[in-house]
Amino acid sequence: MTSMSRRPTRELFVGDVPVGGDSPISVQSMTTTKTADVDGTLAQVYALKGAGADIVRITCNDIDAAEGLAEIVPRSPVPIIADIHFQYRLALAALEAGVAGLRLNPGNIRNEDHIKTVARAASDAGVPIRVGVNAGSLDKDLLAEHGGPVPQALVASALKEIRYLEEVDFTDIKISVKHSHVPSMVESYRLLADTVDYPLHLGVTEAGPPPGGLIKSVAGISTLLLEGIGDTIRFSLTADPVEEAKAGRALLEYLGLRERSSLDLIACPSCGRAEVDVIAVAAAAQEALEAEELPFQVAVMGCVVNGPGEAREADLGIAAGKGKGHLFIKGQVVRVVAEDEMVSALVDEARKLREEGVEARLAAADASAAAEAAEDAVQLLEIQGDANRASARKVAVRSVAEGD
Ligand code: SF4
Repeated sequence: MTSMSRRPTRELFVGDVPVGGDSPISVQSMTTTKTADVDGTLAQVYALKGAGADIVRITCNDIDAAEGLAEIVPRSPVPIIADIHFQYRLALAALEAGVAGLRLNPGNIRNEDHIKTVARAASDAGVPIRVGVNAGSLDKDLLAEHGGPVPQALVASALKEIRYLEEVDFTDIKISVKHSHVPSMVESYRLLADTVDYPLHLGVTEAGPPPGGLIKSVAGISTLLLEGIGDTIRFSLTADPVEEAKAGRALLEYLGLRERSSLDLIACPSCGRAEVDVIAVAAAAQEALEAEELPFQVAVMGCVVNGPGEAREADLGIAAGKGKGHLFIKGQVVRVVAEDEMVSALVDEARKLREEGVEARLAAADASAAAEAAEDAVQLLEIQGDANRASARKVAVRSVAEGD
C-alpha cells in the first residue's frame, strides 16, 4: 500500500460502506436506466458491483422513479444513493424508499427551508447527504459574483449549502465540486480540502467518451488522490457505466490504494527484438484471463532476452523465444512451451497459482526450463545480434554531438 499521507476527514457511512477517515477509497458509478424499470436498473446495479462499484447512484427524478427505488433498495447488493435535482419532495420520497444516501445539487435546490427540511429527514433516517456542486449548473448569483464557474465559485456554492445543513446540526456530509476542465477541477478540490474536513467525492464532470473521458478522469482524480485528497471517486464517462466502475476500481488498484481484485496485464511495448505479435498475444491473454477473473499481474513480453528480467515483479508472465514461450513466475522460468500454446499455458499456470500459491508453483518448476531458457536467450542474441541497432545508433549520436 502507498506511503502517501491522506487528508484527515470525518467519517460517515453510506449504508455499510465507510467513507472518509481511514476507510478505503470507494468507487461509485451511476445507472443509466429509467429508475421505474426496476429489473433493468437492478441488473445494471449488479453489473456495476461486479465491475468494482462499492456504491451506486440512481436518479430520483419523478414519482415513478421514487417508487422504483422502494423496490430496488431492498434488493440491491450495494448501498444506493438517490440523485436529486430541483424537487426537494423527491429527496423526502427517496428517504422513505430507504436509500442509503442523497445527492443534492445546490445549483438547483436553492430554497433554504426546503434544504433544511431534507436535512432533518435525512438526520432522522441516519442517511448522509452529498453536496454535489457542478460547474455546469452553478447558481446564477455565484456565477455573476465570481465572473464564471471558477474554483472559488464552486467552493462558495458548496459552503453555502453546508451552512444550511450545519444550521440544523446536520454534519453527515460529503462534498463534490466537479468541473469538466481538469485544472479547474483539481484547483476546486484543493481549495475545498483546505477549508473543510468533510470527506470528498472526486470526479471530472461530463468527461465524455473514452479515451478522452478516461484520460481527463485519470488526470484529475489521480492528481488529487496522490496529494491525499479524496474519499470516493467516480469516472463520469459517456459509455456503459460498467466501464466507469471498472476504470475507477482499476485506478485505485494501480495507485496502490485498494487490494488487487482483478487482472493487471502488463506487456512490453514491443521492439525490433520481438519474436511474436505482442499486441495480439497480449489481447488474447487479457481476454482469457479476464474471463476467469484471475487477480494477478501478468506480463506478456516480446522476447526472452530481456522479458523475464524486466517483468520480474509480475506474478507470472510469458516471453517469446524462437517458436517457443518461456513461462515465468516472479522472473524465474518454470516451463518452456510451444509458441501456439503461450496463452493457454499462461491461463493454466494462473489457475494453478491461484490454487497452490507462488512457493508451490516454483517448487513444481520444470527442472530443465531455466537452462533451456538461458540457452534460447543466448541463441536469440546470436541470431538477431543487435536487433535494435543500439551500437550503430550510439556511434551516430556521438558523431553528431562531437560535430564530426
Ligand atoms: S527487448 Fe524484448 S521485452 Fe523489451 S520491448 Fe523489445 S521485445 Fe519487448
